[in-house]
Amino acid sequence: MRRSVVIVGGGPAGLSAARVLVAAGLRDVLVLERNPGAGGVPRFCGHRGWGMLDFGRFWTGPGYAARLVQSAAGAEIRTNASVLALHPGGELEVSTRDGIERVAARAVLLATGTREAPRAARLLPGTRPWGVLNTGAFQEMVHAGLMVPFRRPVILGSELVGFSALLTARHAGIRPVAMVEEGARIRAPWPAGLVARLAFGVPVIAGARILGIEGGARVEALRIARGGREEAIACDGVIVSGRFLPDAAFARASHLGMDEITGGPAVDAGWRCTDPAYFAAGNVLRPARHSGAVAREGMAAARAILRALGAAR
Ligand SMILES: Cc1cc2nc3c(=O)[nH]c(=O)nc-3n(C[C@H](O)[C@H](O)[C@H](O)COP(=O)(O)OP(=O)(O)OC[C@H]3O[C@@H](n4cnc5c(N)ncnc54)[C@H](O)[C@@H]3O)c2cc1C
Repeated sequence: MRRSVVIVGGGPAGLSAARVLVAAGLRDVLVLERNPGAGGVPRFCGHRGWGMLDFGRFWTGPGYAARLVQSAAGAEIRTNASVLALHPGGELEVSTRDGIERVAARAVLLATGTREAPRAARLLPGTRPWGVLNTGAFQEMVHAGLMVPFRRPVILGSELVGFSALLTARHAGIRPVAMVEEGARIRAPWPAGLVARLAFGVPVIAGARILGIEGGARVEALRIARGGREEAIACDGVIVSGRFLPDAAFARASHLGMDEITGGPAVDAGWRCTDPAYFAAGNVLRPARHSGAVAREGMAAARAILRALGAAR
């Protein structure tokens, strides 16, 4: 059976799109999500700061994720379903617990978000001690209550996601000793740096060159250079934030044209990919914006899909 719309990725972009499609009367919308639960990145971020732009409320990440799922009621959300390949005309290959399935739709929305570049890809110098995590892995670990990986880490990077890691750390009783930024100034919008310093007592050090992560079995220090001087910041872990890449390997391997600047699928002003059966929205297009902007983009893409299907009401 060919569905009207299949959405790949059950994060803020995909679920917000599903919400609009269902509200417009589509009864056969399918959301495919590779994780055991839908909701995307916010599922693992226990601090508040989610939902303001799209729901006018201020929730924790898991609370926001639950509302997104609730708001898409009427769409079928299939979890543990990972899209492996895209074929012309809206045909997908999906890996499920029952094996590989083929799914077809008149329109497919790609909303698979981003992934973070690992330490190796960032060419961070130094030894290889335990205690170096990217923000996503750190937040999942804390959220799952698995373990507290360190007590006094340095956060490397100062964009919004680095500040989100700071909030998660405080939530878990972890006290970061500093945020270190390689660029000349803090990347997150004002007043994030002020909040870090004044509300959390965490100094933000910009314009630092990373000389190395030091330690034996565990991280012991981050060595940096700034203003012509070297210094070692004593810490027991490093949270590496930023350097997001669109989670779009399956699109890159497909017939779709890619945007060589963002690394995501190429789209026109109406979120349409080079194959007109495919659309894309959210952080898969340009990592990494905040959830409210992404949710709104998912909704706008859904309206474009409705127009394309001639189903707008
Ligand atoms: C660590 C971190 C902290 C953040 N903190 C904040 C914050 O405090 N406040 C805020 O507003 N924003 C924050 N953001 C940004 C926010 O998380 C994103 O803007 C938002 O989640 C992007 O939504 P999305 O739907 O585009 O992608 P995602 O949330 O990444 O969702 C994409 C979904 O697609 C699924 N998927 C991927 N590939 C496949 C596939 N092949 N098949 C099936 N499913 C697939 C994924 O499992 C995921 O559930 C943070 C981001 C990160 C990474």
